Amino acid sequence: MEPIIRIGEGHDRHRLAEGRKMIIGGIEIPYRLGLEGHSDADVLLHAITDAVIGALALGDIGSHFPDTDPKYKGVPSSIFLKEACRLAEHDGYEISNVDSTVIAQEPKLAPYILQMRRSIASVMGLPVSNINIKAKTGERVGTAGRLECIDAHASVLLIKKE
Ligand code: MG
Repeated sequence: MEPIIRIGEGHDRHRLAEGRKMIIGGIEIPYRLGLEGHSDADVLLHAITDAVIGALALGDIGSHFPDTDPKYKGVPSSIFLKEACRLAEHDGYEISNVDSTVIAQEPKLAPYILQMRRSIASVMGLPVSNINIKAKTGERVGTAGRLECIDAHASVLLIKKE
């Protein structure tokens, strides 16, 4: 029998703001600005969560975890990703791999990528070798390039378990 595979993609954007922490990929990154948002505003975990939910054709992160719900205020975004993985498991899917891109003009994310991959792998219950993160600048143009926001894109592949 041919394996049943499903693809999912996700995008997220959070504004840079003073007086907020910068949490990306579950890791706190030291920087003069942080990311604005209702939860911990982890732009990368939100994109991956949306990719998993999208692959399952179950809508989007906002419909599962509304940012108007006070119970999600300030929470670590790992709870959203964990729940998305639980939904995949519940529907009989195994997550094959995650590829992602973070677009941040500043700070330099390269030194944190392995830590982020480890953190995401642990939340998703996957080997680190199945999680990839690419960091790009905004080439000093566009919203990310002008330090207005940080963007993240993610793709995931799900495989139906035998
Ligand atoms: Mg978000």
